[in-house]
Amino acid sequence: MTNRDYYDVLGVGKQATADEIKSAYRKLAMQYHPDRNPDDHDAESKFKEAAEAYEVLSDADKRARYDRFGHQGVKGGQDYHDFNNVNDIFSMFSDIFGFGFGGQQQQQRRRGAGEPGADLKVRMQLTLEEIATGVEKTIKIKHWKTCEPCTGTGAAPGSGTTTCSTCNGQGEIRQVSRSMFGQFINVAVCTTCGGSGEIIKEKCTTCEGEGRVQGETTVKVTIPAGVRTGNYLTISGKGHAGRRGGSTGDAYVEIEEKDHDLFARDEDNVYFDLTVDFATAALGGEIEVPTLYGTAMLNIESGTQPGTLLRMKDKGIPHLQSRGKGDQFVRFSVYVPKSLNSKEKQTLKDLAKGEHFHPKKGHKNSFFEKMKEAFS
Ligand code: ZN
Repeated sequence: MTNRDYYDVLGVGKQATADEIKSAYRKLAMQYHPDRNPDDHDAESKFKEAAEAYEVLSDADKRARYDRFGHQGVKGGQDYHDFNNVNDIFSMFSDIFGFGFGGQQQQQRRRGAGEPGADLKVRMQLTLEEIATGVEKTIKIKHWKTCEPCTGTGAAPGSGTTTCSTCNGQGEIRQVSRSMFGQFINVAVCTTCGGSGEIIKEKCTTCEGEGRVQGETTVKVTIPAGVRTGNYLTISGKGHAGRRGGSTGDAYVEIEEKDHDLFARDEDNVYFDLTVDFATAALGGEIEVPTLYGTAMLNIESGTQPGTLLRMKDKGIPHLQSRGKGDQFVRFSVYVPKSLNSKEKQTLKDLAKGEHFHPKKGHKNSFFEKMKEAFS
């Protein structure tokens, strides 16, 4: 991970368009590509740095988080995106250059590595308050872990292995086929050794030769503010360990928003129903209203009508993909007493004689008028 500013790395300004970022990255990637600079470590690190910067700045979501939080917003092996949009540094090359290389599949199939481990999914319930502020959570992941006594090889300590005779230690079987379109090479994982290229002489007794055991890992997860149900957070390398030293999958944390007693969410706005007494509605005044960020004072103007939608700016949920926050809307209603004593009854009867106590005939106060007032 680089500490340099991603915009500086790519040599573009903060306002650069997606096309400018892409073209700056393409230039650097061509210049520092490992194939063009064999054994040049400086070029290699510049190449990786550019890829890292591009990975963040080419993704509107990540770029917004980087703009807000800097490296902290995108760091830590946690990568915020939708489940179907899993990409890594390597798969990016296929989008930008039209080809891929050195990708995960190839790494997993390299000689000596076992079967890759599966990804797994963990569900996480969050309150609206946690979503509003962002939160750090500790979660327990139950998964296959690398077996410690044999360090994942599956072989009993000191027992060693012999080369698999089926694949001659390659871990894969290559078959060349020809067709009218040309020559194809089909590569399949060797089933005899499971892709490791080696046969264990004596199995590890802890994992019975699997190289992995059932276990639990505790992971700290930082949830950014503004997430919603269905969003995923990727924790790289916390999925299942592969068999016999195969690569470890990723863990996906699926966000689920809990229902709230007081607030209803609509996109990044929240709605709250406020019922005040008749006197306050008629006279106006300051009322303490709960928000996701603690209580706040709301000014009620005298004569506020039931059904009015009052807006509390920036008291909603922060936008995940851009700056700013939603608002809190307060749906205003007036409490009508259900029982009255005789003194109260008399007072109301006296008030009802007053000229301001009755709605004017033909008075227009439609729902849409109120909406216009609330948004003006
Ligand atoms: Zn073992």
